[in-house]
Amino acid sequence: MDIFPKNVSPVQRLQTMSVDFRSIGLALLLLSAVVVVGAQSAQRCSLCGMNMAHMMHVRGYLALDGGQTMNTCGVQCGVVLSGRLGERLGAFEVTDFIGGRRIAASDAHFLFNSSAKPGMSPGLIAFADSTDAVKFQIGFGGEMMRLEAARRRMKEWRPGSSR
Ligand SMILES: [Zn+2]
Repeated sequence: MDIFPKNVSPVQRLQTMSVDFRSIGLALLLLSAVVVVGAQSAQRCSLCGMNMAHMMHVRGYLALDGGQTMNTCGVQCGVVLSGRLGERLGAFEVTDFIGGRRIAASDAHFLFNSSAKPGMSPGLIAFADSTDAVKFQIGFGGEMMRLEAARRRMKEWRPGSSR
């Protein structure tokens, strides 16, 4: 089957075809770039940029008033980011370290600087149930607090300090 007019030279045909291949290649390249960027942004922490594919048990989930959502690798990044967002923050959920379910950060019991440090220091993890937090604290140490105190403590904390 010949889709070209008879008066077109073989060289012109090749040129026309290569242009077509180039635009197809470019379209495919753009499409794969969009897919890759999309997948990466879904797997990267909104605060520290860490790959959070393996951080299901400690993630933070934030929503802005405008509807935009942000995910963080851990409770710790979520608490810091929630403090930075201030009035723009619409909703904030953290993952219960024991049950793995999402709970409102305002209801959570946080354990600061225990020896369980998923991701990074000082280590901040969340519990739905205060009894679970106390049991965990007996084994792994740390200091129990609610959301506002956790925000303050994260703001004050510097690498190398124990508090
Ligand atoms: Zn992070």
